[in-house]
Order: sequence, then structure tokens, then C-alpha cells
Amino acid sequence: MSVPSFSVGKDMFFHVILTTECNLQCRYCFGEALEDLDTDFPCFEVDYSLPKKIIYDVDLLNRFCRQNPDCVLIFYGGEPLLCTDEIKQIMDCVKAKHFIVQTNGLPLDSLEPEYVNRFHTILVSIDGDEALTDFYRGNGTFKKVISNLKLIKKNGFKGEMIARMTVMEQTDIYKHVTWLVDNKEFSFSSVHWQLNAGFWGNDFARRDFKRWSEESYNTGIQKLGEFWVDYLEKKGVVLRFYPFLGIAQSLLSGEKKSLLRCGGGLVNYAIQTDGYIVPCPSMWGMKDYYLGHISSADPLKLKKVFVNEPCTKCDVFHICGGRCLYANVTKRWAAEDYTLVCNTVRNLIDAIAKELPRIRKNIENGRIRLNDFEFMRYNGCEIIP
Ligand code: SF4
Ligand code: SF4
Repeated sequence: MSVPSFSVGKDMFFHVILTTECNLQCRYCFGEALEDLDTDFPCFEVDYSLPKKIIYDVDLLNRFCRQNPDCVLIFYGGEPLLCTDEIKQIMDCVKAKHFIVQTNGLPLDSLEPEYVNRFHTILVSIDGDEALTDFYRGNGTFKKVISNLKLIKKNGFKGEMIARMTVMEQTDIYKHVTWLVDNKEFSFSSVHWQLNAGFWGNDFARRDFKRWSEESYNTGIQKLGEFWVDYLEKKGVVLRFYPFLGIAQSLLSGEKKSLLRCGGGLVNYAIQTDGYIVPCPSMWGMKDYYLGHISSADPLKLKKVFVNEPCTKCDVFHICGGRCLYANVTKRWAAEDYTLVCNTVRNLIDAIAKELPRIRKNIENGRIRLNDFEFMRYNGCEIIP
């Protein structure tokens, strides 16, 4: 296997999995997990009996992080805000450069503002308008999340708030991303989305992914690319649509080779509830990928894990970066089915590449600046949906 060369800053990101439990039963997570019960991983040994909450001493986490002053912690679950005591303990005791949380937003009102306001970024799960969010996540979810977001703004949260959408067949990507940007309830300027595709063992056959991706999602992305550039042209504002930002920044800077854009296994790792370190939060329990334990590992010397074929042989690998290490190693979808996902990646790259002349023109005429496309890499947005 060829190992790509790369250089990154010293920032290291660690998803701290605080709990394996969640207070929601979303269709694409809980629902899929139920359907997926009979599709084990034949090639991997998986520890399904991880502790429900962290069992290591927070002091160990502090000693681990102190070895790298540029350590960024991302609270993750399950639903991490079910563990407010642990969050407070970690934020009080662990010296990290930044704290980030990825939450479904429902328990946001259970953490005191003095802690919420210290988050550099909050990634909140919301899938679009009320009807769509409640369809995927359960009735009443949208209203409660929006009420919490208003509350934390009122209480002084000034960091970045990213609407993190999970998208699949019921999602009209153009309609729902533009709705999140402009609506009467709560407008976001930062949006990231991820396709629910290639993560489960037996969902492709019962889904309509082919038709939806080709007829709805891919055309919606092209239209959204035009909207994004129209918006920056008219208003002088580069909306923080993370999949677009990542690709545009690479194309504008002439970057020759992108890393796996989520950083999984390279600069972004996950710490399980038992303290073992894995390349990414989706790889919990996969014993072949345990990279050490926080009691003894050096965060700066963790083994790096790279994607393999088919990505390494792909003609757009240099810009895609491989989409997802978990999908690449587990190969939960058959190769021909996963090709549809890769087609969405090609379409995304194309949607931005064709707008590049217009973007460049607006930089040259001073409407926007090159650094409007900058963002904190590896903050939990995977970039390639
Ligand atoms: S387009 Fe598909 S095969 Fe190509 S690098 Fe991306 S995920 Fe891998
Ligand atoms: S994109 Fe894949 S490898 Fe990266 S963090 Fe998400 S699940 Fe893990």
C-alpha cells in the first residue's frame, strides 16, 4: 500500500466518547441498528460490551492531553450531554486548546452557560425544516432543539454553531440547506451534511438510494453550488457550507493532495469509554484498530491509519481524500453500490469546480476574500458527505 505524504499543524483532535447511550431513536441510527442486528463484521473482532459511560479517571485524560498543547477535545456519544457532570469535570480539569461538542441539541439546556459559552463550536444535529427533522428524529425534536439554541444564544454563546444534517432519501438537499440558512425560526450560517450511505450492512437492498442520489441529491447539489456562489456575489458573504468550503479551499489553493478530510486515523481520533483510542468514533470496539490507551499513549506518536483500495487507485483520490476510513475498511456496501456514493463525490467536486471562475472573479474584485474560505479543519465536519 502506498502511504501518502502530508504535513499538518500540531493540532490533534480527539472525539471523547462520553457515553454509548442516546436519548433519541433516529431512523438512520437506532432504526438502522435494529435492522442491522444480523449483519455482524465477519472480518473484525468487535467488543460490543464497552462501558456505557467513561470508566477512566479524568486525570488520565488530562495527562494524555498535556503531552500536546494543541489538543482539541470533541465531546461525542451516544449523546454526550447526557453526561453533564463528566463534561464539567473534564472542562475544569483537562488542559485542552479547545472544547467542541457534537450533540442532538435536546439536553443543551442542562449544561450551565458558563460551560456552554466555553465551547469553541457546537455541532447540532438538525436535518432541515421541522417536518423533515421530526420525521427522522421523532416528533417534537425540532421545536425543543430550536428553543435550546435560542436559549444558549441569549445566554451568551458566541462560538460557531453548525447545523449538522444527516441526509438520505427523504431529504431535498437544496430545499433544506437553503431553509436552514433563511427561515423565521433560527437561521444558521454554518451547515454540514453527511450522507447516510455505506455505514450499515444490509440497508442498500431495502432503500431507494440509486434513484434518490441520481435524480434528487446530485441535481440538488449542483443547484446549491449555484446558490452558494450567487449568495457570495450578491451579499459578499461566503456561507459556511462545509462540504463546499473544503473543496473550494483545496481548488483555490491548488492543493495537490488532500488527506482523508475528516482526519480520521491521521489527526482526528476517538477515545472510547474504556480509554482505548481508535481512529474514529464509528470504529469503537474494533479491536484490530486499537491504537493504545490514554494511560500510556503519546498523542503525538499515535499510529496513522490510511484508507486503502479502491480509494488509493481512484482518479479523484487527491481531492476526495477517501471520504470515510470506516466505510473503506468495513466495506459494508458492495463495490457497485458504493460507486453511487463515489458518484456523489464526483458531482460535488464538479459543482464547485464549475463555479471556480465566478468565485475567483469575486475574490479579484474584492467582493470576498480568500480567507473567507478558511475553517477549522477536523472539527467534526467530515467535508466529503
Ligand atoms: S470517490 Fe470514492 S473511491 Fe474515489 S477516493 Fe472518494 S470514496 Fe474513494
Ligand atoms: S467520515 Fe468515516 S472515518 Fe471519518 S470520522 Fe466519519 S465515520 Fe469516521
